[in-house]
Amino acid sequence: MLKLTNTLTGATEPFTPADGKTVRLYACGPTVHDFAHIGNFRTFIFEDVLRRHLKSKWNVLHVMNITDIDDKIIRKAAEKDIDIREYTAPYTASFFEDSARLRIERPDVVTLATDYIPEMVHLVERLLDSGHAYREGNSIYYRISSFPTYGRLSKLDKRELKVGARIDADEYEKEQPNDFVLWKGPKDDAEKRWDAPFGTGRPGWHLECSAMAMKHLGETLDIHCGAVDLIFPHHENEIAQSEGVTSKPFARFWLHAEHLLVDNAKMSKSKGNFYTLRDLIEKGYSTLAIRYLMLSVQYRKQLNFTVAGMEQAQNSLGRIKEFLFRLRTARLMSGSTPEITEALAAARASFEAGLDDDLNTPEALAAIFKLITACHTAMAREALREDDRAAILVWFGEVDQRLAIIPEEEVETRDGEIESLVAQRDEARRNRDFAASDRLRKELLDRGILIEDTREGTKWRRK
Ligand SMILES: [Zn+2]
Repeated sequence: MLKLTNTLTGATEPFTPADGKTVRLYACGPTVHDFAHIGNFRTFIFEDVLRRHLKSKWNVLHVMNITDIDDKIIRKAAEKDIDIREYTAPYTASFFEDSARLRIERPDVVTLATDYIPEMVHLVERLLDSGHAYREGNSIYYRISSFPTYGRLSKLDKRELKVGARIDADEYEKEQPNDFVLWKGPKDDAEKRWDAPFGTGRPGWHLECSAMAMKHLGETLDIHCGAVDLIFPHHENEIAQSEGVTSKPFARFWLHAEHLLVDNAKMSKSKGNFYTLRDLIEKGYSTLAIRYLMLSVQYRKQLNFTVAGMEQAQNSLGRIKEFLFRLRTARLMSGSTPEITEALAAARASFEAGLDDDLNTPEALAAIFKLITACHTAMAREALREDDRAAILVWFGEVDQRLAIIPEEEVETRDGEIESLVAQRDEARRNRDFAASDRLRKELLDRGILIEDTREGTKWRRK
């Protein structure tokens, strides 16, 4: 049974979709004012594994927005003197490129905020009609005192609410629980604006998620997720806006991924520990190792990103790759061995139990390595059989569907040149010319080719 920790209740609760069939999942997407950083990708990788695990049990309808209008975007587009769409389009494209490199599946529905202005305008009208919104100057604000449960998600103390104080910024701190802006009147002639019955302007940041989530997923979502720093004010405001018009719970489960630290510190450009995915690729890190590192810590715990951690991740992937190579190329007897059948069943059970336990990915990864160790031991005794191999490979396929961390199979291009060097080395060994044999081994190694001498002859593979 799947259990998830719900920020709304603070409890780890059994989860099933409300209709028993389809999980209605909403995730806050990136603000495309720049390249996404690795802290952002930690959240998107968590959501990807959540989606994959949910899909192993039910249908999933996963909606993610792209924030292509907010304070930062307007400012940066104005600096370049271009339209906001022209400014954001390349960052939106890079976000999906980076996601694909990290093996993040594309959500079923991706919504651009600027495509949903009519839905947002409609929501503001309903909030004005119901008295949750009011006009001040040429902007429209949400009156938080009109929503008695405001602060429930972020456990905000009611005494902190400042009645009548207003805030215009899209992002603000927990110390500022003020009435927030739903629709901003333009500050100057150049600012992007849309017409609305209550005056020309542009939406405040929080409005888009309420409008797009309810449009595609209905008034009550099964799961709403994002990073912890979105709990306040963003998600608190989404709840106030949505429930202000529907009087129904906006989301049954709220899931939040914790921060990623770099060398034990919050990422910041001034500290020089701020990385986009592109920065790490330039440093020579593999995207698969980055994904692996992200999954080595459960999503609700802080993750400390370090060079040592990356090396460990790389080593772990190397162990999986070695194992699969050995398993695929081994000459095995037919049949199966009961102890391997049992070890595989245990690995499968503990992998599922780990993911069912609030997506405990480290436990799921540990199950893989426990099986690998059991198999190496069995192979050393020639106890691993043909049917065991087939069953293990099927399971690794399932693991990859769920976590997407299995390294790709080596391309068996029996490059003529490499074959010839391997043959020359075999010849040298037969002639007991060990100097030549060592030289050829080194030459192959320099070309990234590893060789292994087995009873069936010399095997080679690319590093
Ligand atoms: Zn959102």
